[in-house]
Amino acid sequence: MPTLGAVPLDFRDLAPAAHPLERLPEEWADVLAAWGQPRYRGAQVFRWIHQRGVFDAAEMSDLPKALRAQLVDEGLDGSLPLGVAKEHRASDRTRKLLVRMGDGADVETVLIPQLEKDPDVDEEDRDTDRGVGLRPSDTVTQCISSQVGCAMGCVFCASGVAGLTRHLSAAEIVGQVLLGRCRLEPSERLRNVVLMGMGEPLHNYESVARVLVLLTHPDGIGLSTRRVTVSTSGLVPQIDRLGRDFGGQVQLALSLHAVSDERRSAIMPINRKYPLSELVECLRRYPLPKRRRITLEYTLIRDVNDDPREADALAALMRGLPVKVNLIPMNPIAESELAAPTWKGVERFQAQLRARGLTATVRKQRGAEVDAACGQLALQGPDGERRARTRRLPVAKG
Ligand code: SF4
Repeated sequence: MPTLGAVPLDFRDLAPAAHPLERLPEEWADVLAAWGQPRYRGAQVFRWIHQRGVFDAAEMSDLPKALRAQLVDEGLDGSLPLGVAKEHRASDRTRKLLVRMGDGADVETVLIPQLEKDPDVDEEDRDTDRGVGLRPSDTVTQCISSQVGCAMGCVFCASGVAGLTRHLSAAEIVGQVLLGRCRLEPSERLRNVVLMGMGEPLHNYESVARVLVLLTHPDGIGLSTRRVTVSTSGLVPQIDRLGRDFGGQVQLALSLHAVSDERRSAIMPINRKYPLSELVECLRRYPLPKRRRITLEYTLIRDVNDDPREADALAALMRGLPVKVNLIPMNPIAESELAAPTWKGVERFQAQLRARGLTATVRKQRGAEVDAACGQLALQGPDGERRARTRRLPVAKG
């Protein structure tokens, strides 16, 4: 199978590019060849856009003048199909960007500088960054959105409250990264991208697959596949497809949050379609490279899923699987009656997982004062008002 960038996917498996921002070098080469240009110019145009962040062909100085004019006519005129409507900045330098699409739809993306001893970051990645002279605080993770709203309806998540409006195109998803990169401080470098913002990425598979190829292409942003994480609520057929298409190279995170079907179905409706037994089997067949692990996201909700006996059940459920658990103390949201766990409860849960032989870290809350923490995305307009309607949540506690 031919390789494309760092991933073993033939780009012809992808749906055709609908916007110039989405085109891969090979696709640019096809377009330019049809105009009578040499194919190598395809990589040149791609590098200008994705490596240098230039969207106006008039500035692509190593291209012939006539070609530049033709590209401008084709839409490479400096305009993007999205723009930043508002930036909220927290005291820990976390930046939340409200991104407005051409049709007025809003999503959010968040730039998160790493902490000195960030429990979410692999030691190996930290060493690599140090090796290229990057201090942890200059290393930025960007969380991006894949849909406007979300159809999955998880009850603890602000993004799911309003339901799905529409999928984002690949241009609108990769565009968030291109916009975010322009807003980095001079010392900062984008090192990780996580698809954990608004939306279920695997519900929008075609666009997300294209974005994964764009982000990891060596002539573009050039992220390592191990530094791009797709977080899913558990769409089994699409996890299988991701594993097949990308050979297990893309980092997988699963939002687990409960370890019995009854409890999980109550907080994550998708569990009724793909129950835990199917999900665990799917994780077992995911073609994970050696020494890599799947991340399990587990949001701790007081009196719902924070009993240490749940930790025992989690360890039993995942026995033999290469996983690490990321515990996320629930961020209270206005739309929910659910409560954050006590700190003691978090520590007890973590200790119980470790006692059962699982690696378990606790996610540090970042950017909470601008509602940029997990599950709080995209409900605030440019003027600061919250947009989602309030509803009562159908969770049976205890
Ligand atoms: S947690 Fe993820 S999948 Fe669930 S509603 Fe929120 S955005 Fe959608």
